[in-house]
Amino acid sequence: MKALFPFSIRCIAILLLLVACNQNNQVDLSKIDPGRYDSTWYNHTPLRFIQTNLNEMDAAMDVDIYVQSLVDASASMVVFNVGGIKAFYPTKLPFHHMNPYLEEDIDLVGEVIKKCHENGIKFIARFDVSKVNESIAVQKPEWLYFGTDGNVVNYNGEVHTCINGGYQQEYVFEILKEAITAYPFDAIFFNMGGYQTSDYSQVFHGICQCENCKNRFRDSTGFELPLNIDDNDPVYRKYNEFRNTTTTELNQRIINFIKTLDPNLVFQNREGELLRSESGTGFTSGRDWNYHATENVKRTLNSFKDQTPNDTYNYLIGMDYRHTATSPNIGKIFLAEQMLNGAGPGIYFMGRMENQYDRVFLPTLKEMFGFHKKNEKLFTNVQSLSKIGLIMGSKEEYRGIMKLLIEEHIMFDLIQTSVVGSEKIPRKLEDYDALILSNVANMSDSFISIIDDYVKNGGKLLTTGFPGIDAESGSPLNKIRLKSLGVMPDYEMFPQTRSTYLKVSENDKSALGQEEFKDFDLIMMNSGFLKCKPGGNAESYLKLVPNTMHGPPEKCYFTDDEITAFPGIVTNQFGNGKAVFIPWQIGSQYGWKGNNGQRTLFLAAMEKLLRVESTFETDASPLIEMTRLGNRNGAFEWIGMINHSGQIGDAFREPIPIYNSTLRFNPLRPIKSINLVRSEKGLEFKQTEGWVECVIPQINDFEMVLCLYK
Ligand SMILES: [Zn+2]
Repeated sequence: MKALFPFSIRCIAILLLLVACNQNNQVDLSKIDPGRYDSTWYNHTPLRFIQTNLNEMDAAMDVDIYVQSLVDASASMVVFNVGGIKAFYPTKLPFHHMNPYLEEDIDLVGEVIKKCHENGIKFIARFDVSKVNESIAVQKPEWLYFGTDGNVVNYNGEVHTCINGGYQQEYVFEILKEAITAYPFDAIFFNMGGYQTSDYSQVFHGICQCENCKNRFRDSTGFELPLNIDDNDPVYRKYNEFRNTTTTELNQRIINFIKTLDPNLVFQNREGELLRSESGTGFTSGRDWNYHATENVKRTLNSFKDQTPNDTYNYLIGMDYRHTATSPNIGKIFLAEQMLNGAGPGIYFMGRMENQYDRVFLPTLKEMFGFHKKNEKLFTNVQSLSKIGLIMGSKEEYRGIMKLLIEEHIMFDLIQTSVVGSEKIPRKLEDYDALILSNVANMSDSFISIIDDYVKNGGKLLTTGFPGIDAESGSPLNKIRLKSLGVMPDYEMFPQTRSTYLKVSENDKSALGQEEFKDFDLIMMNSGFLKCKPGGNAESYLKLVPNTMHGPPEKCYFTDDEITAFPGIVTNQFGNGKAVFIPWQIGSQYGWKGNNGQRTLFLAAMEKLLRVESTFETDASPLIEMTRLGNRNGAFEWIGMINHSGQIGDAFREPIPIYNSTLRFNPLRPIKSINLVRSEKGLEFKQTEGWVECVIPQINDFEMVLCLYK
């Protein structure tokens, strides 16, 4: 957040500054005790995670070279193929397809586990039961997925199976039992679980129409399977619920089963203790999302207290180009985002490290993992110190708001809607000074009450888009149900329409910021918009100017008659708290064009209307992403800084150094020293009345500003 304190107050403060100095080049980590989060080996611990997705021919590897490549990269955890599409161990099960390249007298899995464990590397066994070999498929058609055209999907000789078929529902337990009984795995990973409807060429084959799906859906809902994906179809919405509940049910059965076989085994999956996600580029036309790893780590760490983020940087460009890597610079950014948001670094390769066709990134990988290993105490038992929680609604909306908050250096947590009101969440909502509800359209009645109560009890709420106009299931309710917003329940949906604006009046400027708005009277708005009426004591600003003439130039104007009474922003005192409602998708809009007027309005909502207090101020470039985490054992806190200046359109080049960024913040406790962990330098700082001020001389790729307490 930019400096909110007037210059005069800051000058007085400087007179009172206690100047401290620390010229030690490196911080002494030996005296730091980060404590433990819990007794597990994985939760809030410094893991370094490498996944090598082996092809069947990799089974002929030299195990010593393979394990040495993990050791050289400072890995502490590896994901290794064990079973499913191909058995990488000598299976005795008749319908578990043996890898034809596995040499008979070599126990590959056993050797790799032994040597990994000798080097302190945890072994995660990878299974993929989403396909079976065609030689098995012809014998077991009842295990297979059938597309809406009535055909199975055979991709390179491996045939898609259905989650409701006997392979995934029953036979998988035979495979797991055989493998887990034979080998001392540390964790189990399942690839491509759930309902898969597309093949590797992104060809969509539709909702599975196999007999198992038909019967199970009919038995649980009374309906026949839908043929088309259509959110407006109530039967499709039922199917969506069915998909979620049956996927969760199978995952839970697998978790229970593996715990029965070995209580110490953990699961790497959406429901598992290790919550795996992927950050990467895609074989798509859209611009790559440079905050992908930040999103993945935050949403896990801030939503689940008993699950650990296992984010992997996808080394490959996409599933269509498995053998060449993304830009090494975006790879470095993703690893930095993982670390500086509180997870361990992770990477996923196609194949082994030692036989990559594209090896440009490998020295950087070693260097980044080495940095994490050297400083692993600083990544142990840490938690976010953000005071703002961003509740994740539609993807474009929360991503646009993320982008805006990161550019403005406003620290935030990402909270998934599924954990609001649940015991899984690490922090209570009341612990946040402000919540941002980013176009959460689907809301249960209890979700509505939780948010209203949050405001009533003194919380600050910024809501964007179309909050709670649908039930949790997605059924349209066509009412605004959040009472805290201060608008009438009935509204009219104004669809996304070109040349639509919001008029800023002089009265609006006095509330939103005279200085900030002095040079513009109109804000572009190309989003759907809820035409709503403020009620009670709510105050509203900006007015909708819909669908103005935009051609020919001679006709490009609008008159006062075209300015409607519908507000572009509403603010309401509710109980002890306050809500601001932006009834359109300002986040998606900002993510799309980065519009200056929209950014100014968003900041005015936070600072002028909600008066969210600043706990962090900086003049750093918007190209620097910042994070702030503290040790739960009270040993330290740090500020992470990631340099995104290498991004030029779709290309990621080397970042340019950013010089002399001033930070001003209030640490949890008085501090005795500041060290720049990346630069390996001590840093002078000033400390007064609980606030610390320092200048970071230079940020090359990333920096970690470590504060040790007195
Ligand atoms: Zn099916």
